[in-house]
Amino acid sequence: MTMAVRATDLLHETQGGLYCPPGDFFIDPSRKAARAVITHGHSDHARAGHEKVLATAETLAVMAARLGRRFAVAGQPLAYGETVRVGEVAVSLYPAGHVIGSAQVCLEWRGLKIVVTGDYKRKPDPTTVPFEVVPCDVFVTEATFGLPVYRHPPAEREIAKLILSLETFPERPHLLGAYSLGKAQRLIGEVRAAGFDGPVHVHRAVEPICRLYERFGVDLGPLEPAENLDAEAARGAVVVCPPMAMKDAWAAGFDDPVSVAASGWMQLVTHRLSSGAHLPLVLSDHADWPDLCATIAETGAEEIWIVHTSTGSLRALGHWCSQRGLVAHPPPGVDDVQPALPGLGL
Ligand SMILES: [Zn+2]
Ligand SMILES: [Zn+2]
Repeated sequence: MTMAVRATDLLHETQGGLYCPPGDFFIDPSRKAARAVITHGHSDHARAGHEKVLATAETLAVMAARLGRRFAVAGQPLAYGETVRVGEVAVSLYPAGHVIGSAQVCLEWRGLKIVVTGDYKRKPDPTTVPFEVVPCDVFVTEATFGLPVYRHPPAEREIAKLILSLETFPERPHLLGAYSLGKAQRLIGEVRAAGFDGPVHVHRAVEPICRLYERFGVDLGPLEPAENLDAEAARGAVVVCPPMAMKDAWAAGFDDPVSVAASGWMQLVTHRLSSGAHLPLVLSDHADWPDLCATIAETGAEEIWIVHTSTGSLRALGHWCSQRGLVAHPPPGVDDVQPALPGLGL
C-alpha cells in the first residue's frame, strides 16, 4: 500500500474512543465530545451529551427517542451515500445492515480512505437497508462473532421453528424476548415474511421504536400494546418484549407461555440454557465468521483494525488476515508502534 500519510494521522484510538484529528471529531465516543459521528442508536455507540452529532436521520431519531432530553444537541442528518466535509475530511455514511439507520463511516483525506463499520451484518433483514461494501485502505471492523465456530443459519429456518410452535400450541401465548432496538423489529419483520399476518403484541419498551421504524417506512403489520391483553386474549397471542421482561412479574401473568429467545449467542448451548427459553432461535444482528472474512476480503483493504471483540476473536481473525498478507490489529494510538497480536508473535 502506498500511503502518503500514516493511517493514524487520519484516525487513531484515544481514551475517548476513535478520534479523527483533521476533522476534529470522534466516532461513537465513549465520553462527551464536542463533535461526534454516530454509527447507530445502540447505547454502547450512541451516548448522551455530545455537542454536535452527525448521523443518519434514523439514528438521530433513535437517539432522541431513547435519550430524551439528555439528547439536547445539534444533530446533523447525513443520508447514505452523501458526503459532507468536516474540517479537512470528506465524511460519508453507508448502510451497515445492523439496525435502522445503522451506518459505516467512510473517511477520506489526502488520498487515504478508512471505513469504520460500527456494528454490521450481511444476512438479509426485511427491516434494514442492506450492508454495502465500501472499498478502502484501512477497514475498521467489529468482530463480535470472530471465531470460526460462529455460523448463523438463515433466518427463515429459525422463524420456521417459531411458526411450527404457533401451529402446535395455538392456545399458548408465545413470548418473544428481543432487544427493543433492532432485534424486536427484525423478529416481527421475519414473522411477517413467513406469512404471519395476525396482530403482534408489543411491550411498552418495544412499541416506541416500532413506531419509529414505521415512521421511516418499515411496515411491521398490525401491532397492538401487550399491556391490554387479558387472559382470554392472551391465548395464542404473539408477544414481543425485551429479554429482561421475560423474567419479571409481567411475564409471570401469562398462562403457560412458550418463551422464545432470539440472539446470535443462542448457537451456544451455555447461552441457550442460561436464557431459560423453551425455544431458542439463532438470530443475530452481527456478522458471523464467514461474513466477517468475506467482508474483509471484499473491501480490498490491506490493513484491518479489529474492534468490539474478544481476545480469542482478535487472535482468530488476526490469524486469518495474516495468512492472506493483511496487517490486522486493534486500532493503534497516535504514537503506537503497530501493536502485535496477542500470542501470534506477529
Ligand atoms: Zn449495535
Ligand atoms: Zn455494538
